[in-house]
Amino acid sequence: MDIISKFPEQFVVEALVAGNNVEALIKQARRFLPEIVVIGNKNLYNQLKTALNDLHIKVYAGDDAIEQVVSSSSVDVVLAAIVGYSGLRSTVAAVKAGKKIALANKETLVVAGEVIEKLVRQTGAKIIPVDSEHSAILQCLVGEMGNQVEQVTLTASGGPFLNCSLNELQAITPEQALKHPNWSMGNKITIDSASLMNKGLEIIEAKWQFDLKPEQIKVIIHPQSIVHSLVHFADGSVKAQLGAPDMRTPILYALTYPERFTADLPKLDLIKHNNLTFFEPDMIKFRSLSLAYTALAEGGNMPCVLNAANEIAVEAFLKGKIKFTQIPDIIEQTMQETEFSTFIDLDLLEITDKNARTNALNYINKLITNGRTD
Ligand code: MG
Repeated sequence: MDIISKFPEQFVVEALVAGNNVEALIKQARRFLPEIVVIGNKNLYNQLKTALNDLHIKVYAGDDAIEQVVSSSSVDVVLAAIVGYSGLRSTVAAVKAGKKIALANKETLVVAGEVIEKLVRQTGAKIIPVDSEHSAILQCLVGEMGNQVEQVTLTASGGPFLNCSLNELQAITPEQALKHPNWSMGNKITIDSASLMNKGLEIIEAKWQFDLKPEQIKVIIHPQSIVHSLVHFADGSVKAQLGAPDMRTPILYALTYPERFTADLPKLDLIKHNNLTFFEPDMIKFRSLSLAYTALAEGGNMPCVLNAANEIAVEAFLKGKIKFTQIPDIIEQTMQETEFSTFIDLDLLEITDKNARTNALNYINKLITNGRTD
């Protein structure tokens, strides 16, 4: 919304959607005066409707309304930012409607990349990444016109626990995990950054976004978050995209691609950031990343299982039910227990997601019961 407010001539907010945060939605609606607002949680409809009574804004509620609004003919660009699996349905609706989609919801490509790719080919929808690493790769590929890419390297900050021992990781609290050193983001993605699952999801996202093979996607730890990602070409040249770690830059690029707008955003000063470092990720300490590589290699519905188990595990960790180090245990167990399928469509993904969540929850309950008897 900050970016939109900087360019009132270029962008008009047609519709605003929120899940539960009705207060923020009311505030934004009063400021940006969209045609339509939708609240996902139907119980909040009356509160929203009453608060906007004096304005000519259409107010709707529920998931069906979200799908309708992203498909409506007056919308040119959909910024898909619903977090997690719950963002899938509305993003699919936008793809089916052939929209340009600025994709902040990485889980959509992780879970349903194959299905989305087919739909994109049928409808001509365009998916432009908002995720800073994928935005960086896209920027490196501009002008390359089909030149052969050997490898891409996604950078990872390593999160707040990069230098903690495995023992120290056991005692991490949700409050500690929610403090990210470089990026300001929502709760779920911040925990994913701390466990490196965020990078795990991003390698799968990269596969579908840029049509890569698993062995072409590498991860490197770069604690300063200045180099956002790199593309290695067949002639030995490597292109990287750099910038201050501020999500508004990739958001703006996703909205203006392939153009660039002049914007009052933090500028990079390499003299101030003259100590850029790079390390191999520790896959033993951060096992979630290694599990994501397994899911990427197995394909089919396995990334969907990985994602569902992770969402359940992160929620349990945030509620103080499990330890930080138990997140990968839950994911691994769920990947073993949930039925594998190489053929996927949206119905199968829905079943897979449900089953994986049930399996993850059962395993968490087992862990809690065992913890009590220990
Ligand atoms: Mg990212």
